[in-house]
Amino acid sequence: MSKIIIVSNRLPVKVRNEGGQSIFTPSEGGLATGLASVHSDGNLWIGWPGTEVEGEQQQKLVTDQLSKHNLVPVFLSKQEITQYYEGFSNEVLWPVFHYMTPYAKYDSVYWQYYQRVNAKFRDAILQIAQPGDRIWIHDYQLLLLPKLVRSAIPGVTIGFFQHIPFPSYELFRQIPWRSELLHGMLGADLVGFHTYDDARHFLSSVTRILQLQTSSNIIHYNERTVVSESFPMGIDSNKFMSLVNDRDVINERQHLEESYKGQKIVLSIDRLDYSKGILQRLQAFDSFIQNNPEYKEKVTLYMIVVPSRDSVPQYKELRDEVDKLAGNINARYRTNNWTPVNYFYRSFPIETLSALYQLADVCLVTPMRDGMNLVCKEYVASREKDNGVLILSEMAGASKELTDAIIVNPNNITQMSEALLEALHMPEEEQQRRMTQMRELVSKYNVSHWAKIFMERLDEVKRMQESLQTKYISPRIQQLIKNKYSRGHKRLFLLDYDGTLVGFNTNINRAVPDKELYHLLDDLTKDEKNHVVIISGRKHETLEEWFGTLKLDLIGEHGVWQKTYRGEWEEVKGLQTEWKKEVMTMLNTYTERTPGSFIEEKSYSLVWHYRKTDKELGEMRATELMNNLRYMIADKGLSLLAGNKVVEIKPTEANKGKTAVHYLRKHHYDFVMAIGDDVTDEDMFKALKDEAITIKVNSNTSAAKYYLRDFKEVRELLKNLPAKMLITKVFDKFINLIPTSMFGIKKNK
Ligand code: UDP
Repeated sequence: MSKIIIVSNRLPVKVRNEGGQSIFTPSEGGLATGLASVHSDGNLWIGWPGTEVEGEQQQKLVTDQLSKHNLVPVFLSKQEITQYYEGFSNEVLWPVFHYMTPYAKYDSVYWQYYQRVNAKFRDAILQIAQPGDRIWIHDYQLLLLPKLVRSAIPGVTIGFFQHIPFPSYELFRQIPWRSELLHGMLGADLVGFHTYDDARHFLSSVTRILQLQTSSNIIHYNERTVVSESFPMGIDSNKFMSLVNDRDVINERQHLEESYKGQKIVLSIDRLDYSKGILQRLQAFDSFIQNNPEYKEKVTLYMIVVPSRDSVPQYKELRDEVDKLAGNINARYRTNNWTPVNYFYRSFPIETLSALYQLADVCLVTPMRDGMNLVCKEYVASREKDNGVLILSEMAGASKELTDAIIVNPNNITQMSEALLEALHMPEEEQQRRMTQMRELVSKYNVSHWAKIFMERLDEVKRMQESLQTKYISPRIQQLIKNKYSRGHKRLFLLDYDGTLVGFNTNINRAVPDKELYHLLDDLTKDEKNHVVIISGRKHETLEEWFGTLKLDLIGEHGVWQKTYRGEWEEVKGLQTEWKKEVMTMLNTYTERTPGSFIEEKSYSLVWHYRKTDKELGEMRATELMNNLRYMIADKGLSLLAGNKVVEIKPTEANKGKTAVHYLRKHHYDFVMAIGDDVTDEDMFKALKDEAITIKVNSNTSAAKYYLRDFKEVRELLKNLPAKMLITKVFDKFINLIPTSMFGIKKNK
């Protein structure tokens, strides 16, 4: 039976060594709980057990014990932990991904170990993966792993989720190994992030650094499509809601209430990290007391900082600074009855946290950058009476969901200090209105929901990939097509022009039809049973000039203009052109900034061509242009097409799909063939029924049924359709009648 293999840097258990014995306790982390439902039922979890286990015998013992819980350990040496985890993961990726690039240490030894350990994880997967298994890889420590697994098992289903932010392209590109990292991630079928902004940043890095084509959130990567989307992670809300009634928690809360009688409590909980904005938060609290002295002896900042990564110099420095500032505030304001900052540098069990969440009037969560932030959601889930105020940084992923919090910029000390005053003054009804909304959201979008929708989407992406996987036209398929052709009495050919009937030319005026093409079209149209339509994005004047006298129907500008053989050109009624002026202004600025690019104006559309520009610059500008145009055209009934070295803006109303349907309605055809190479042709492929022979040129990812490599293969196919089969048969018969000796060769048996 196929299974799910979860892979993360750490296993969801804590392992500690007691007198030479390894003791396991389940981890309470959000990820462990969230994935518990996925992990059950014979599914496996691969990861590092969190401690160094030396010696083969000891490792075997640990492996056996873990296997009882469907856990598979990857053992790492001290050196590997230092270089791969503390080094590359936490001193390169963590700072860059949290917008702290000056802290990054681009050490090539770190990089070597990062590659080596990712390969170690791959080997562990290969030991247990079976055909049909789905693999879900987690987080920034394993960015190379999706590709490593894909290379070993090409058809495998891989989901990847990143739990920390993905930075803007400008920061990501500073990493010396940026391309390798992106290729690594693209080994997955679905790449998930907490927020839409992270997914957008990833897509922008992929298009700019790897020059890949994307349509919306789909990346065309080699012969595969990869989807990037946001899946905001939730918490185990039921657990926090039920802790409210836990006896120990009630006792602890009562004890705390007693100790802080008459005080308003502002709660702050973080791991020690420069991304958490702890110093700025202390400054804001300092400023609050200074500006609102009436709150002296009435408000306490209860601040928990959980020790973390204290071997890294920046963390040690940060700890010293936090100690100093908290001490300084206390030294300045403390009275016999009041300590303004109650600062704890250690971690607490979940029961204590729950009691604190229930006690706190305000929860102050102001990271400089945070993938999601769970503390704020835990606070909300613990507010059984629907009151309390959450002050939340706009830089935390959670701020995209918890919009009823007081949202602040963590760099704005004055704003944070004012937010504290607003929170402490907020009327109970207002608190309840906001908190109820947030509690509903936290409860509904909990961590199990998150895991479920990710896996469902992964399956969907796989199905989409399969449906888009087209077959190459082998000699056998070609024969089947020929047979169908010969049986047909009324045949329709819908043929795209550029890239399909002729090759791609950097000068659009040079891609003119040649003699061979004219012959080919003549042959095809000679047969009365054939109805041939050239359906192109070209201007109708150009099509008229090239094909006006041939026995063809012509469609120009992707369906805007139409002409039947011997008929007149007609245009789709009611199309607008007012939008052109505004769009043209933007296209002009891009043309000026991009040497070699130019604008083509058609009657109802505008095209920005960049086939003659420097490749990288052209791709980069096209992506930028499309991002800007998307907003500009949003409400104008226009479509944005990213074609082959072109960006086209045209009315949505006219497209090749509609034109194809129009033809099918007019006549009853028993043979339909549509061929095209561009995104615009996808509309046509989708609109045609299953019986149609749809052929994509130059790519095997398409809604079409088959694909061919280039226009030469298209011409060969079309040339060989009529009568040729008959000739071949007659020739074969004839050749069999002649004794082989006449040719001086032996007949091949
Ligand atoms: N936490 C804990 N004990 C503590 C302080 C915090 O178990 O003393 C937990 C907290 O409940 C939360 C997690 O640590 O689930 C912190 O997650 P968050 O996403 O807020 O920050 P991260 O540390 O993952 O960046």
